[in-house]
Amino acid sequence: MDEKSKAKQLKEKLFIPAKKGICIAKEKDINKADEFCEGYKKFLDNSPVEREAVRYSLKLAKENGFKEFEQDKKYNPGDKVYYINRDKAIALAVIGKNGTKNGVKLSIAHIDSPRVDLKPNPMYEDNNLAYFKTHYYGGIKKYQWTVMPLTLHGTVVKLDGTKVDICVGDDESEPCFCITDLLPHLAREQATKKMSQAIDGENLNVLIGSRPLKSEDDESDLVKLNVMKILNEKYGICEGDFLSAELCFVPAQKSRDVGFDRGLIGGYGHDDKVCAYPALMAAINCGVPENTCITYLTDKEETGSDGNTGMQSDFLRYFVYDLAKADGEEGYRVLSKSKCLSADVNAAFDPIYASVYEAKNASYINQGVIISKYTGHGGKYDTSDASAEYMGEIRSMLENNNITWQVGELGKVDIGGGGTIAKYVANMNVDVVDLGVPVLSMHAPFELVSKFDVYETYRAFLTFFG
Ligand code: MN
Ligand code: MN
Repeated sequence: MDEKSKAKQLKEKLFIPAKKGICIAKEKDINKADEFCEGYKKFLDNSPVEREAVRYSLKLAKENGFKEFEQDKKYNPGDKVYYINRDKAIALAVIGKNGTKNGVKLSIAHIDSPRVDLKPNPMYEDNNLAYFKTHYYGGIKKYQWTVMPLTLHGTVVKLDGTKVDICVGDDESEPCFCITDLLPHLAREQATKKMSQAIDGENLNVLIGSRPLKSEDDESDLVKLNVMKILNEKYGICEGDFLSAELCFVPAQKSRDVGFDRGLIGGYGHDDKVCAYPALMAAINCGVPENTCITYLTDKEETGSDGNTGMQSDFLRYFVYDLAKADGEEGYRVLSKSKCLSADVNAAFDPIYASVYEAKNASYINQGVIISKYTGHGGKYDTSDASAEYMGEIRSMLENNNITWQVGELGKVDIGGGGTIAKYVANMNVDVVDLGVPVLSMHAPFELVSKFDVYETYRAFLTFFG
């Protein structure tokens, strides 16, 4: 045997294999991924905002035997329950053979995505055009949200307390809405501005009407009045009702396969429905697990996880306490023995913008589920850095079950950064690590993920639940 082949042999033994991911995946597994993603695309298209994601998740859960959780009820192994937080977050638990006594397994993803929200007093008319004023939600590149069809989703609570759900533009027979931008001919000055300043947040006003109400007398604001009349006829609302509403503009397009080989899915809100759906399906398909398993789909991650539907609220903690109490266990002791996969997307390496990534620690499309030991920014600030022990446990779980995985750090050390809900879970004294799907064009109105990666992420959750 010559020296070269000896080195080759040693490399095979000691190095991370060079050929991995989809390159060595079996055809039948890729087909399974394609099939799984048909369900995912439906979920994505039905879940642009968190309330809709809760509704669609609930529908799937009910179809699969989940029942509403009742406090102080004694549950048995295999029982499946759901628990909804203010219509904007949902927990799904499958009671394990050991119940909660050895801790619970948590998979947590978020179902809110960056978008454009209405202001509390949104409606105005200017030069015979009617607009909604907005305040964007989450981290967006503002220019990406102009000159594209938008749809309106949300809920209005009227003065008498009744609630109206509004959804306009999903069906192509319905109208859509749009934020205008300057024509290039008159954009010489705008074009010299920094990208972050080219579109003013205060100018993200959405065009909602152009025809005045016919009027004999010399009234002003007739276009606005006409729009308000249409809304009043359809939903019974008046201008003041916008104060007690949550209305959001999201991109109008549905998810689509991308590329001649259809290997990718393009769509709005992959962050983080692409982790929410696999976590949901793992709860549905996990059978009767050893320990109680909980999938929690949370809200408000994109704005810092604050608020009572965000991960910093005690909702999930109290749910675990309730499950513990029914087993005669102390809630804090159950949490202290619990383990969590914090399911969130990460930035896939983009060859066109290679300079912001550190190639050895970036995640890649079609290389499987990502484990991120830590997120945060410069000097590991604002992150829960998973322990070597927990990383070891998750790594061997993935390897032993032939789940394709990769490491993923969010860009070069000094470039930027980002956070997830992992640190809030860690605060409950739970072992936690980030795990999820690589995304191209994250936070854009049209994000890309690989079907293969989505499926490997599902397999990771399902194996974790055991
Ligand atoms: Mn996310
Ligand atoms: Mn995000």
